[in-house]
Amino acid sequence: MTLSRRDFLKIGGASCIVAGTGAALVGCSPAGGSSDAPLAETGETSLVGYAPVNFTEETDILIIGSGYAGLAAAMAPALAGKKIIIAEKQSQVGGDSATSCCFMFATGTELQKAAGYTTTIDEYWEAVKEKQTAGYEQYDWFEDWVKGKIYANTHFVDSAINDFGATFQEPCTEAELPRLFGSVILPADGIGSGGQNILQPIVAKLKELGTDIRNGQRATALIKDAEGTIIGCRFEDTTSGKVTDIKATATVLATGGFADNGEMVQEYLPEWSNYGQMVHGCIGEGHKLAQAAGAQLVGMDSSFTFCNLMGDIPNCTTWGYWTPIVLVLPNGKRFIEEAQSHDAAQAAIDAGYRQWWSIFDQRAFDARAIANSVEGNIKSHSDVYVKADTIEELAVGMDVPVDTLVETFARYDELVASGEDTDFGKKAWLESLQPPYHALKLNVSRYKTSGGLIVGPNNQVLDTSDAEIPGLYAAGAVTLQSFASVSTCMATGYFVGETLAAL
Ligand SMILES: Cc1cc2nc3c(=O)[nH]c(=O)nc-3n(C[C@H](O)[C@H](O)[C@H](O)COP(=O)(O)OP(=O)(O)OC[C@H]3O[C@@H](n4cnc5c(N)ncnc54)[C@H](O)[C@@H]3O)c2cc1C
Repeated sequence: MTLSRRDFLKIGGASCIVAGTGAALVGCSPAGGSSDAPLAETGETSLVGYAPVNFTEETDILIIGSGYAGLAAAMAPALAGKKIIIAEKQSQVGGDSATSCCFMFATGTELQKAAGYTTTIDEYWEAVKEKQTAGYEQYDWFEDWVKGKIYANTHFVDSAINDFGATFQEPCTEAELPRLFGSVILPADGIGSGGQNILQPIVAKLKELGTDIRNGQRATALIKDAEGTIIGCRFEDTTSGKVTDIKATATVLATGGFADNGEMVQEYLPEWSNYGQMVHGCIGEGHKLAQAAGAQLVGMDSSFTFCNLMGDIPNCTTWGYWTPIVLVLPNGKRFIEEAQSHDAAQAAIDAGYRQWWSIFDQRAFDARAIANSVEGNIKSHSDVYVKADTIEELAVGMDVPVDTLVETFARYDELVASGEDTDFGKKAWLESLQPPYHALKLNVSRYKTSGGLIVGPNNQVLDTSDAEIPGLYAAGAVTLQSFASVSTCMATGYFVGETLAAL
C-alpha cells in the first residue's frame, strides 16, 4: 500500500485509525496540519498491510459485539427507527452471553409485579444508592449514571418481554428459592436457557426492525477525526480478509471481557493464569481498541475484580440455590456452604484442589428453575457423572475415600438434625439427601473477567483525563461498571441504547 498526503485528503475530512493490536496509528492525517506538512515532504510512504481509511458505508449506530450488551444497546434505538449495524466477529451471534447461566437480578419489572413482588424500582434505588455509588465521589455525575443504569435494568426486562418476545419463567416463591427470592429472574426454561428464550427472540425482532446484524466481521481499529471524535470503525472479514470502514454517528464497544486472552490474564490476574478457561473469543479486543483511542482502563486486576473462578459445569454451580446439594473435595470432605456454591472454585483452590464434586438427589430434577439444566448437564457431562444407591457406592464411583465420604455424610446429617450448620453456616436447604444419589465432578476454570473501560455521564468512554471520548460508547463486560454480571451487561447495554435513541 502506498500512502500520500493527497490520498489522505481524498478520504474526506482528516481521519485516522486507532488500532489496539500493535499498529497504534495507521493512515492518520496530522490534526490541523497543512497540505505541505511532513508527510508530503517525505514522499510516498507505506505501512505494510494497512489501507487508508475509505468509508463505504454509513450508519447511525455501529455496535461491535452481539452478546447481551450489544443486543440490548440496539433495542431502544431500533424501536426509535435508528439505522443500526451490529458487527460480530464470530460466525454466530451471542458471544459468551449465549452460554450464560442467566442467573439474573431485577426489581420492579412487570414480570415481578404480576407475581406479587411489590418492591418498586424507586424503593430499590433509595435502598441501594449509597452502596452502589460509594467510592466514586470524584465524579459528580456518577449517582445519576448509576440510577440510569439501575432503571435501565428494569426497562430492559420489560421491553425484552413486551417488544421483543423474550420469555421468562414465573419468578420463584420463597419455598423454591429461599435465598434471594423475589430479586432473581430466569429465562423461561430456567437456568441456562437464555439463548433460546431471551437472546434469539431479541435477535429476531431486531432484524425485523431493520437492524443489520453481521457475522464474521472483526473490528480491528477505531476511526477518529481530527477533533478526536470517533467516527466509525474498521472491520476485517474473518473469512475473506476484506477490509470495510463503516462511518457511524455513535460507535458502541460491546466486546466482552478478556478471560480467553492468556497474556492479559497473565498481566492483570496472574493468579488465574494457570487455570483452564471455558470461553472463546473474549480476548479483550475492545479494551485495546479503546485504549488506543485514549481510553483509560480501570479495575482489571484482582484487587478490584468483581469476578470469581468457576466450575466447568457452570449451571451446576447455581443449583444449590434451589435444591439441597452437598459439595465435597476429591478427599471426600465438605468445604463450603453449598447454598452459595458460586465461590466453590476459589474455596477448592484454597483447600489445595482444582476439582470438586456436587452431590444432589431427585429434588434437583424436580425443581422447575433447574430441572432442564440438571437433565441437560448430566447428558452432556456423562463422563463425570455418578449415580448410586448408597454413599459407599457413590464414593467408589467418584473415586474418593469411602470412609471419608461416609463420615462427611454422617456429619452433615448430624448438622441437619441439629438445625444448625456449625461447620460452614449453611442455612437454606440444610436438608439431608435421599438415595439415589447423583454426583457431577467440576474443574476450576476461568469464565469471565471484570474491569476495563469506564463510561461517563453520557455513556461515552472516558479517556485518561476523565473526559468523554466523543462518539465512543461502551457497555457490558468490556466496562468496569457492568461487573460482568449478566443482568448488568444487559442493563448497561440498554442504558447506552436509551442514550442513543434520544440523540
Ligand atoms: C458459562 C457462563 C455462565 C455465566 N453465568 C452467569 C450468570 O448466571 N449470571 C451472571 O450474572 N453472569 C454470568 N456469566 C457472565 C455473563 O454472562 C457475561 O459477563 C455477559 O454475558 C457478557 O456479556 P457481553 O455482551 O458484555 O459480552 P459477550 O457476551 O462476551 O459478547 C461480546 C461479543 O463481542 C464479540 N467481539 C469481541 N471482540 C470483537 C471484535 N474485535 N469485533 C467484533 N466482535 C467482537 C465477541 O465475539 C462476543 O460475541 C456467565 C458467563 C459464562 C461464560
